[in-house]
Amino acid sequence: MKVAVYSTKSYDQHFLHAAAIDSGHELVFFDTRLSLETVSLSQDCSAVCAFVNDDLGSTVLLRLAEQGIALVALRCAGFNNVDLNAAQKLGITVTRVPAYSPHAVAEHTVAIALALNRHIHRAFSRVRDGNFALDGLLGFDFHGRTVGVIGTGKIGYEFAKIMTGFGCDILAFDVHPNPDCVALGVKYLSLPEIFQAADIVSLHCPLTPDTHHLIDDAAIEQMKEGVMIINTSRGAVIDTNAVIRGLKRGKIGRLGLDVYEEEADFFFEDLSNRIISDDTLARLLTFPNVLITGHQAFFTEEALSCIAETTITSLNQFERNESCAFAVDG
Ligand code: NAD
Repeated sequence: MKVAVYSTKSYDQHFLHAAAIDSGHELVFFDTRLSLETVSLSQDCSAVCAFVNDDLGSTVLLRLAEQGIALVALRCAGFNNVDLNAAQKLGITVTRVPAYSPHAVAEHTVAIALALNRHIHRAFSRVRDGNFALDGLLGFDFHGRTVGVIGTGKIGYEFAKIMTGFGCDILAFDVHPNPDCVALGVKYLSLPEIFQAADIVSLHCPLTPDTHHLIDDAAIEQMKEGVMIINTSRGAVIDTNAVIRGLKRGKIGRLGLDVYEEEADFFFEDLSNRIISDDTLARLLTFPNVLITGHQAFFTEEALSCIAETTITSLNQFERNESCAFAVDG
């Protein structure tokens, strides 16, 4: 099957090539994102393979359907960028990679939390500059602190498990509480109760209409003075302007982001020679107590290998007219 693979970097191509070696699929790699402007690149293909910031809204899906494409294989877990209703109406199957390495994302979340707490990002530059002063680098023990986990699926559970190892008390909110978390000693409470009690709030829920701007001015108002907020889920779970207001008045003591609601025009690209045109992102980058990584939480060898293998499995199942094990329900 000829497949148009959008938003690819050399690392994607490496892992997909390895996974597809005996499959017979012809993978055509494009570094560009899928959008209305680039959809015609997939004209003579039977399927499209896409990533987190590709546009799979109704207009693009309609164009894909007109080109005879009936499969969109996502190389990610989240599918908030796909209009599933439109896909269903157009007869397009959408598959995703529901689980690749929850450890990759959970461990990166912990890395951000530790680095922020002990100001590792600042200490690194200071020491390289011959500045060995400790002023401004004061942290706190994780041991004995309270961590609020929003969304306790695969990643939230792994994160809770690691933080339990630090000796933290774990509180959680999820629309479907996870029995494995309960067995771990996690206590499920309402969102306001978690906001009031947590020293660290970490987001691990999907982006849905219910979770859009879950962290807004009202939520931040309920939180502890100096709270640490970490978001490795999807950017728009946080109202970025609200967290900037919270940072400016000192209510938020530390903010760690691996995702940003307007990341699509920036993340995954080297823009170091350009001016950042997004004033909100530029403002965030000025705070000494904000640490941003460019959507790299998933980026481990194990995760990329699993993403590639699951994607090729979906292509194989679709080509053989088998039911797709990783299809997203509309
Ligand atoms: P999952 O489906 O296993 O878990 C998500 C959990 O969120 C579920 O338990 C679900 O019940 C819960 N949830 C749904 N709606 C909720 C709500 N309104 N409030 C609270 N909880 C709610 O997914 P996962 O594999 O743990 O991934 C979680 C999210 O992490 C994904 O949706 C994706 O957006 C993000 N993610 C980010 C990266 C990255 O590189 N930064 C990589 C993978 C996934």
